[in-house]
Amino acid sequence: MAAIKKLSIKQLKLKGKKVFLRLDLNVPLSENGAITDQTRILAALPTIKYIIDQGGHLIISSHLGRPAGKVQPNLSLKPVAHALSSHLGKEVPLAPHYSLGEKVLQMVNSLQKGDVLLLENLRFYKGETQNDPEFAQALAAFGDVYVNDAFGVSHRAHASVCGITQFIKPCAAGFLMGKEIEHLSRLISKPARPFIALLGGAKVSDKLGIIENLMEKFDALLIGGGMAYTFLMAKGFEVGRSIVEKDKLDTTSSIIKSTDIRGIKLELTEDHVIARELKDAAQTTVVNTSDIPEDWLALDIGPRTIELFIKEIMNAKTILWNGPMGVFEIEAFRAGTEAVGRAVAESGAVSVVCGGDTAAAVNSLGLAHKMTHISTGGGAALEFLEGEELPGIAALDDA
Ligand code: ADP
Ligand code: MG
Repeated sequence: MAAIKKLSIKQLKLKGKKVFLRLDLNVPLSENGAITDQTRILAALPTIKYIIDQGGHLIISSHLGRPAGKVQPNLSLKPVAHALSSHLGKEVPLAPHYSLGEKVLQMVNSLQKGDVLLLENLRFYKGETQNDPEFAQALAAFGDVYVNDAFGVSHRAHASVCGITQFIKPCAAGFLMGKEIEHLSRLISKPARPFIALLGGAKVSDKLGIIENLMEKFDALLIGGGMAYTFLMAKGFEVGRSIVEKDKLDTTSSIIKSTDIRGIKLELTEDHVIARELKDAAQTTVVNTSDIPEDWLALDIGPRTIELFIKEIMNAKTILWNGPMGVFEIEAFRAGTEAVGRAVAESGAVSVVCGGDTAAAVNSLGLAHKMTHISTGGGAALEFLEGEELPGIAALDDA
């Protein structure tokens, strides 16, 4: 697959233009409505600041949660407007939700160079997720140019991501979107070899598509975390009460066969940190694959597997990491993810981290700054690596 090249915000003249910017400001909120993690806001700041510095009139839009086409006051973007105001050192007003007609158009038209307006939660309107052309056209009326920096929703054909691009030109990628496309498409098109995949986590089905699509590119597959147990069961091992996706055993078996035929190294967890219960104070012990007792759970990779994986990691030139090696949220099962994470950080390889939980693990270990790229789009990144064309990227103008 050739690398994807899309028009960049850098190529646009923004001075005096109304810039309609789609962001992913879908931040987690506490029960009293406080933002508990600002990552998505911080990730959007370079594009926001650039548009302000260029003298654009900035109209920002985003979704928040799943209000399902109805106004839900607890899913208002008000806290986001406050956070943006404080990050930018200027007032960012929030447009009223009750209509996207005259009132909002007036607010848009009274913007001056460098001013910012935030539209209310796009998913208060049914037309957003339905990709309704009328709604898309109403959104398009607010801008002279369109910039999409919401990589995390680019796998959704929604009005503010797709439909709108029919009614406004040019349509460009923001800096975050550009970075995501660059790093992820390099994995697909020309990864430096050896290229290894380090896979784990709990959702096996999410990850099998990536293996199938990139199989021929990988030199080695290292599989730990919960994912290993579907593979081990497919190979005929008893895995106790460890997590298994039984409906994926066939796919897993055929992946095992393909790696064999193609001579791709497949390394599965060899020793396991097991416990009777998934809790911090649980008594743990380490066993080999053939010795997992019936009523025990395997919850982390053991020391021999850590060593084996580190050897492969240190030898790699490109690493795709998706899925923690164990239940890292609990101290007793964190060692595998921590050791392997440190090795990826120190390897000197191009390192691309995908998946919400893997990103959280890397952040909590303080290793984020050592990774080449940490994708902000969970589902979107997975679909991209599965070889799907993402509608929100396809809709942007080619470079
Ligand atoms: P990501 O969000 O990075 O794609 P997943 O959602 O697939 O990753 O999986 C993350 C979860 O997997 C973590 O919450 C972690 O506790 C869990 N996990 C990792 N190893 C195991 C295991 N051996 N058994 C059960 N759960 C596991
Ligand atoms: Mg997850």
